[in-house]
Amino acid sequence: MENIRDNLAKVQKNLKDGVLLVAVTKTHTAMEINEAIDAGVTDIGENKVQEILDKYDKVKPVRWHMIGHLQTNKVKYIIDKVSLIHSVDSMKLAQEIQKQAQRHGITMDILIQVNAAGEESKFGIEPGSVKELIMEILDNCPNVNVKGLMFVAPFAEDPEEVRGYFAQVAAMYNEYSKISHPRLDFRYLSMGMSHDYLTAMEEGANLVRVGSAIFGSRVY
Ligand SMILES: *Cc1c(COP(=O)(O)O)cnc(C)c1O
Repeated sequence: MENIRDNLAKVQKNLKDGVLLVAVTKTHTAMEINEAIDAGVTDIGENKVQEILDKYDKVKPVRWHMIGHLQTNKVKYIIDKVSLIHSVDSMKLAQEIQKQAQRHGITMDILIQVNAAGEESKFGIEPGSVKELIMEILDNCPNVNVKGLMFVAPFAEDPEEVRGYFAQVAAMYNEYSKISHPRLDFRYLSMGMSHDYLTAMEEGANLVRVGSAIFGSRVY
């Protein structure tokens, strides 16, 4: 049995000042999630639309983050449930978020997912196209706020191996945060998971997505 409260306390102790912890709850039950909320978790992350829908009514009030690949035809199911979509990597997806946000009379906060390591298996947009996507969203999607960048590092036994990628995405974050636009309000540099969040924070992450270090390893 994992002790969620103790695990969470250990992670929280490691967080630098001002870093937001998103507890990644995929594969875990509403009961486990509520235990984490009782212990102080304010933000949770899921990577599948279906899991959000299955758990939404059973979980205590909390901010939900969509951190996984999002198909355009599923945006409508989560638009009124999540606070931040981390995984925007195409204009097509941004336009669907725009359409659904407008329909609900809301604005949606999003991050651009960057595939900085150029991994074929990973979602995200290549670094050289990030600025163009940001500008296109700002020009065409009045109900979408661009709040920062998100990055998933390749798995490395030693997180030092991916430190350079974290630094690269942090440099992009700093550069694009200077763009002046009413709907560009860079607040979140979302990078770092259970095995590499310390390194990610050292390179400037201010939002970390931590699952197994809190809930134990996942059984699919
Ligand atoms: C699963 C997942 C995490 C958390 O992974 P852990 O190794 O369990 O901390 C973070 N980000 C994304 C996008 C994920 O899918």
